Amino acid sequence: MPESTLIDRFAPSPTGLLHIGGARTALYNWLLARGSGGKMILRIEDTDRERSTKENVDFILEALEWLEIDYDEGPISQAAADPRHRAAIEELKASGHAYEFEGATRLKVPDEGETIVHDAIRGDVTFQHENIDDFTIARSDGSPLYNLAVAIDDLDAGVTHVIRGEDHLSNTPRQVMILKALGHEPPIYAHLPLLHGPDGKKLSKRHGAASVQELRDAGYIPAAVRNYLALLGWGYDDKQTIFTTEELQKLFTIERVSKSAAVFDEKKLQWMNGLYLREMPVEELTALIESFTGRTGLGPAVALCQEKISTLADFWPMAAFFFDGPIDDEKARTKFLDEEGKIRLAAARDALADLENFDSASIETALRGVCESLELKPNKVFQPIRVAISGTTISPGIFESLELLGKEDSLNRIEQALNKP
Ligand code: GLU
Repeated sequence: MPESTLIDRFAPSPTGLLHIGGARTALYNWLLARGSGGKMILRIEDTDRERSTKENVDFILEALEWLEIDYDEGPISQAAADPRHRAAIEELKASGHAYEFEGATRLKVPDEGETIVHDAIRGDVTFQHENIDDFTIARSDGSPLYNLAVAIDDLDAGVTHVIRGEDHLSNTPRQVMILKALGHEPPIYAHLPLLHGPDGKKLSKRHGAASVQELRDAGYIPAAVRNYLALLGWGYDDKQTIFTTEELQKLFTIERVSKSAAVFDEKKLQWMNGLYLREMPVEELTALIESFTGRTGLGPAVALCQEKISTLADFWPMAAFFFDGPIDDEKARTKFLDEEGKIRLAAARDALADLENFDSASIETALRGVCESLELKPNKVFQPIRVAISGTTISPGIFESLELLGKEDSLNRIEQALNKP
């Protein structure tokens, strides 16, 4: 089979936000299509008219767009193929493969024998027919049921690879039987391993962000999310964890997808996201943070915080004091700006006031000089300054922070701190 004939599809049911498991399914389909020169179809399984609201469909489109996962065909509406599904049901009845029972239509499943699902991840999975009853393919009002619609849609779209969550494995023999009854060969299937939280339980909201939208709002960036999701069940070798999207497209194969459940650990995603943020040119990071926070003029502060943040959301709490003044943290004040702290702070003020060049190197020399003359460890002097200018004990580098604030603002803040009771 020439590689370019690969056709796969992402076929979500619009039930709400796009969950992490669904995002991984979309990603794997996309990587396979992009890496093989094949094509990916987006099919919206919207036959449940009540849940398939425009809002729910938009959640899926929005999540894919944010993840920068594109598709070659679609979004195709499954519900729109209803006449075709009904025609297939008629065909199955006419050929004797299906029959009506109490108005509904059922597919005949032989009492003996087996249906083998060839799964590219699990190998052959055998389903004994004695365990599968004749199953309903159309309700008594004639409306087609899920397994029928999926089988027909995959057939009509020329889908060669069905990649979806393991929870669908039990549906697969039924879809295979429908296709065979119509005289067609089934596509290649690949059922992706379940996702667990770090506690080994099935992934859910209590493990942190559960949807793509929540990841976005928590300040993760798409490239890091793609990288992390790609590793939830797939690996290239035991070593490499950081992959560009081009590498993922080139290296991803179904054969390397694991059978066993993968663990979604938001801490690891945070770590990976931090790596991506640090690697970024500061202008690019600034643009992302400015659009995330809705503020402008953040560049110099972003440069100071870049090393310390893991998500876009980490920035503002760390840098707000530059713009909005020191926050009022009474605990930090009582601890570091007591009588002794204020004596050290006053010494620091005097040294800073003498500086002509208020750059971080000169500031550092001056403040280290204060430590030496007072015979104190650096933090004994630096923490009171930190609390004076930021209000808290956590800030970017103290010398750089002072430089960014400038001499006047720095000295004002220190003065105010000295004057507070
Ligand atoms: N609509 C199904 C879901 O959202 C997926 C069906 C399929 O991929 O075959 O779980």
